[in-house]
Amino acid sequence: MEITQQSSEQLGNMQESIGLKLDPLGDNISSLELVRVSGSDIDVANAARVSFGKTITSLSEKDVKLIQYLMNHDHTSPFEHNQFSFRVKAPIFVTRQWMRHRMASYNEISYRYVNVPMEFYTPHQWRYQDPVNRQASHGSFENEEMRKIYQDTIETAVQAYEKLLANNVCRELARGLLPVCTYTQFIYTCNLHSLTHFMKLRLHPGAQWEIQQFAQGLLKLALPHFPVSLEAWKHKHCPDLQL
Ligand SMILES: Cc1cc2nc3c(=O)[nH]c(=O)nc-3n(C[C@H](O)[C@H](O)[C@H](O)COP(=O)(O)OP(=O)(O)OC[C@H]3O[C@@H](n4cnc5c(N)ncnc54)[C@H](O)[C@@H]3O)c2cc1C
Repeated sequence: MEITQQSSEQLGNMQESIGLKLDPLGDNISSLELVRVSGSDIDVANAARVSFGKTITSLSEKDVKLIQYLMNHDHTSPFEHNQFSFRVKAPIFVTRQWMRHRMASYNEISYRYVNVPMEFYTPHQWRYQDPVNRQASHGSFENEEMRKIYQDTIETAVQAYEKLLANNVCRELARGLLPVCTYTQFIYTCNLHSLTHFMKLRLHPGAQWEIQQFAQGLLKLALPHFPVSLEAWKHKHCPDLQL
């Protein structure tokens, strides 16, 4: 059976996923957008088959099986001949976790150049500290008093930041008063191998909930562009995940 490069439904999904802005944290501030993609599943198969001097222009059932085999057996290098660029708006604490992933390229807005936009992440609900895993959380609860403390503290920081600027303190020093829930923006560029590594670590229940939401968004936006590779990856790592 011959599988054409892109079915019309798949083409539609691919076009839709470029420029589509997700709001991973659901607060009308966070955002994740796929701005550019190069490559396709065909390039994955061609990279694997170059050892035999072969090139294909459409995927056969054999190529699909080959890609699934590569993914299932961690033959990772054929997944590196492509590129994704995402534009991300996330709290600084999420961004710090994100940028630990070194096999990627980053450029971030500079709050030395521009005043900090007054946008901050406030969780919808609080989570309990996990009693066993010291870096994890679990469950959720409401607490208006805690919300007020959180938001009042942000407000105090904002007022202090603005006061310093009004008194001719430079932006690069004044920003030191702002909390790590302040939103920042960056471009994240990586290949499919690096992306799947990021998703594997950050979709894991041990990862912080907020970065898990971004990892789900990455998978949702990338999947239409590499459906064979990413369905195989999803099947292996998170078959029950609803996107
Ligand atoms: C749940 C969770 C909790 C975490 N907690 C902490 C924490 O408390 N403190 C903390 O500092 N970090 C923490 N991290 C970050 C973690 O240690 C990694 O830095 C991060 O996940 C990036 O993974 P990576 O190095 O595999 O990815 P990348 O940096 O993208 O690297 C990809 C791969 O390239 C190779 N590689 C990259 N750089 C090197 C190198 N210098 N030498 C050899 N091989 C290299 C490795 O095989 C690596 O897996 C946490 C991560 C997770 C997912």
